[in-house]
Amino acid sequence: MPDLHMSPEVRALLGPEGLARAAEVSLTDGQCVTCRQPLDGTVNMVVRTNGSFTHVVYVHDRCGPSEVIPMGPDFAPAAPADGYDMTMTAAVLDHGGADLPVLVAETVGKAYIVQDGPGELTNVVASHLLGQGFHLVSRLRQAPPQVPEWVGVLLLGHGPAGEDGLLVLDPEGGKFYAGSVDLPDGWLTQAARYGWAIFYVGNVGLTAPRQDARTTVKALRTAAQAGQLVGARIAVGTPPAGA
Ligand SMILES: [Zn+2]
Repeated sequence: MPDLHMSPEVRALLGPEGLARAAEVSLTDGQCVTCRQPLDGTVNMVVRTNGSFTHVVYVHDRCGPSEVIPMGPDFAPAAPADGYDMTMTAAVLDHGGADLPVLVAETVGKAYIVQDGPGELTNVVASHLLGQGFHLVSRLRQAPPQVPEWVGVLLLGHGPAGEDGLLVLDPEGGKFYAGSVDLPDGWLTQAARYGWAIFYVGNVGLTAPRQDARTTVKALRTAAQAGQLVGARIAVGTPPAGA
């Protein structure tokens, strides 16, 4: 488990709320932005900021110090389709008595927009999705509304290494997510029944490849209560035969 170090200037810039948010981030799946190797040992937090947009990244202690790097005015969040590293968790979760198919996407590196001054950090991807018709999720009582034209395409047995794969496409056809997904028992049945899945995106902290439903629900609730979860229903299906 990496040991996170933040310099005084990083702490001052992030403020108490930002520090709490940063501490929620799992470094287990993270990558050093300098050498691109998995994070281990002592890890230093680096904050790149131009005052209105802040990007938090991590480096090995041997690769660089914990510091604040001032960026130019054109420093801005990339659209998610530009290739955020994401993890995807599938689960069947109770929502007000109905077992619904759920997908949870989390960015591995965390980027934030500073909204209301220091410390008010909003996940860049979540922020982008709110502008795309996703809703801020405060509790898991019912499925959030559907966003038109977003689609999840299941590539069963055709993931990057022959496992099950998933493509999540935005209305412009951009690949929001392309990678593997580990579908638990019952997920396909429920997805086929409804024709959609609930797609949650946020800082949830689901690190193990397969969580039990109770752990997943608890993590989602915590993220929702912290204002760190957005969601929508998206159509899901398998590609038509021959396509
Ligand atoms: Zn490194």
